[in-house]
Amino acid sequence: MNLHTLLIANRGEIARRIIRAAREMGLRTVAVYSEADADAPHVLEADRAVLIGPPPPQASYLRVEAILDAARQTGADAIHPGYGFLAENAAFAQAVADAGLVFVGPPPQAIALMGDKAAARARMQAAGVPVVPGYQGADDDQALAQAAARIGFPVLLKAAAGGGGKGMRVVAQPEDLAEAAAAARREAQHAFGDARLILEKYIPQARHVEFQILADAHGQVLHLYERECSVQRRHQKIIEETPSPLLDDALRRRMAQAAVAAARAVGYVNAGTVEFIVDPEPRAFYFLEMNTRLQVEHPITEMVLGLDLVQWQLRVAAGQALPWRQGDLRPRGHALEVRVYAEDPTNGFLPSTGRLVHVVEPQGPGVRVDSGVRPGLEVTPHYDPLLAKIIVHAEDRPGAIARMQAALERTAYHGVVTNVAFLLQVLRHPDFRAGRYHTRWVDEIGAEVATEPTAVPPAVLAALALAERMPARGSVAPASAGGTARYDPWAALQGVFPA
Ligand code: ADP
Ligand code: ADP
Ligand code: MG
Repeated sequence: MNLHTLLIANRGEIARRIIRAAREMGLRTVAVYSEADADAPHVLEADRAVLIGPPPPQASYLRVEAILDAARQTGADAIHPGYGFLAENAAFAQAVADAGLVFVGPPPQAIALMGDKAAARARMQAAGVPVVPGYQGADDDQALAQAAARIGFPVLLKAAAGGGGKGMRVVAQPEDLAEAAAAARREAQHAFGDARLILEKYIPQARHVEFQILADAHGQVLHLYERECSVQRRHQKIIEETPSPLLDDALRRRMAQAAVAAARAVGYVNAGTVEFIVDPEPRAFYFLEMNTRLQVEHPITEMVLGLDLVQWQLRVAAGQALPWRQGDLRPRGHALEVRVYAEDPTNGFLPSTGRLVHVVEPQGPGVRVDSGVRPGLEVTPHYDPLLAKIIVHAEDRPGAIARMQAALERTAYHGVVTNVAFLLQVLRHPDFRAGRYHTRWVDEIGAEVATEPTAVPPAVLAALALAERMPARGSVAPASAGGTARYDPWAALQGVFPA
């Protein structure tokens, strides 16, 4: 089968990244957008764009009928969901197929099964994949109490339908269980429309290590090695790297085999990620969940393997067989990714909104920026505050860290507050440099991670905004003053308005 026109049911950096991959393959691209995104980069870059509704996601990016209509209108023959929004919605995948279109992702049955943490745990146990000691049966208080007593405290309550790091609760002692479960059920019902809970043993100094899977429709299931995502803030990944500093070859091989077995057990096709939690003492690993979509952090895998995952998703969706055997895939060097968010670390990481008056994104050998923004764009409160991902690749881990530091020191999104200075503090921390971290490490060192003042006086912002509109005077380049590579808005201004 040949695909001709791809509709991207998403926005921001991931929509742009998918458009780029499709264009290189000679496909026409169709963007969809909400009223808040009328002049967003993904809209300008696609061959065609269709307005699908007002800003709230339920009124636009989550509207299945509007998206299918857009596909019909534009003659699209395939739909890529990106991540978030409708990416892990089995009903959407089914509706796409029912409309006679190709869904660029796994079969709806695999999405449904893996989207239910209770069903997924049961299937994995049956397939011999180790799961966290836990419980996924009827979740009345008595059953939960019995299970917790058997497993031992602390335990973790999770929404069976949960995702995005939301709605998990650690319970330290038996007395707290009933109340925590009641609150968790309410939260789960509200967030996911499904109150069911599962219970797992809580692993206090856990590491999060996941394996990328790529499977074709002809029975070939390959793993594309691991990504370590233990640098998290409140269960949300902020820095990812590959290879994992934790794994040795023997553990890597065992985990990779388990990941492939997990994918096979649900008849997986296309790209997906099997997440594991690793207890460093005594180095045991357990299945957490499978994300049945392209992952935010997929670029680090692309960097070390030198392949384009989105293009392989499209080829697999079109029925092509993967041309490799496992042994053909050999990663090279070390890759790191950071997520740059419009959020204020000095104010509880609250999202920051506003107009981007000036944007400086890093570049250079081994530096990749997957950005969703440009100067002049309004960052609104309607969507995820991810501005861009900065990805670096180098020979080894110290080289990658040095490259990322240098890149972040030349990164600026003036007009909103970002976590760039915070990311730099984490990267500079001796524990990070030693690869000695776990999923709660960032939250624990929080007090030490002072943030540098990043506020730029309003007058400077105004001048920079003006400078953006004066292309004849040359573009605003980051200045390198006094041997430091740090971006300096004052020096940048001098470049535009010489004395
Ligand atoms: P990844 O493992 O790819 O980093 P995340 O868990 O960070 O995935 O989620 C990726 C995106 O999808 C984020 O924008 C997150 O907010 C969103 N997301 C993931 N799961 C859900 C969910 N169940 N409900 C709403 N948003 C979700
Ligand atoms: P989600 O679907 O929200 O992504 P996951 O089950 O993948 O939920 O867990 C998200 C994160 O929560 C993990 O990366 C890890 O930091 C933490 N976590 C999950 N399960 C456990 C556990 N049993 N013990 C300790 N931490 C856990
Ligand atoms: Mg997860």
